[in-house]
Amino acid sequence: MKEKIFIALTFDVEMTQRFHQELTEIIPNIAFFLAKETIQKATWMVRADRDIQKRFGAMDWVFQNHGKLLEKLVAQGHEIGWHPHCSYGYQLDDPGTLSNVLKDLEESWSTLNKANIRTVRMGWGIMHNRIMETLDRLGLTVDSSSIPRPAYSWDKWNGLWQDGLPTPYHPSPKNYKKTCNHHLGILEIPLSVTHVPASYDSMKVMRYLNLAFKPGNLFQPIKKWIADNNYLVTITHPHELDDIKFAGAKHDLLSYSMDSFRENIRNIIQFCEIAGKEPVFFTLNEIGENFSFPGSASMALS
Ligand SMILES: [Zn+2]
Repeated sequence: MKEKIFIALTFDVEMTQRFHQELTEIIPNIAFFLAKETIQKATWMVRADRDIQKRFGAMDWVFQNHGKLLEKLVAQGHEIGWHPHCSYGYQLDDPGTLSNVLKDLEESWSTLNKANIRTVRMGWGIMHNRIMETLDRLGLTVDSSSIPRPAYSWDKWNGLWQDGLPTPYHPSPKNYKKTCNHHLGILEIPLSVTHVPASYDSMKVMRYLNLAFKPGNLFQPIKKWIADNNYLVTITHPHELDDIKFAGAKHDLLSYSMDSFRENIRNIIQFCEIAGKEPVFFTLNEIGENFSFPGSASMALS
């Protein structure tokens, strides 16, 4: 029997002002393509927060106005998660800032009561023991905010996940980056992070595996990841696949192209075949429901 590799495709729906067709065109296009590839499971992180309220009039504006799309995705087998961006500067060590973030989280969550959401990814991956404790207390069962990589000088949220465990674990209430015997109920599922080269790098940079990256840049890192690991958690921002809005835009790493996204997905499938592994797609919450992670750093999948 073939060894299995568990794959979670995740999408952060950012609702950047310029990209409303993110919901009307890009997401349906992605879902249509995934269905064609017989991939019916991905996790879509949808914004509901103070910033969305300021710009659209309600924290849960996306859920109110695009509920049909979200329901359709769920009916197909996908999961809808929550993606709150709390923009209060970068000083979570400041008690005033932190308490504003916590207050906004509670208020935004209260607008999603009926949405049956179990999974969350904090905007920019911001985290603090009090935030993790709050997410757990609100009833969320999976967090996928972790980007376990070194602190880089250009990171606004420098080092928030530095030295964090790279595989799923139940966080310690005293240190969200580690586990312990008295861990929280919520499960942390980190994004897969590895060395992805860009032409402008002056050093070896660890990056998450963003399927909007150019296939040429992702080819080797993904191939090696699949050969070395039995799980893969990718991230993609749908608006980064908007080839009409970004027509003519040049970036050394981002493709701004649906074709590149499709190529990256097909590469993943092909690399699994080369590695002799059977790809099994899961939503993040399904990983939490189907496997136990007894608070250890070792991956209990398989
Ligand atoms: Zn975001």
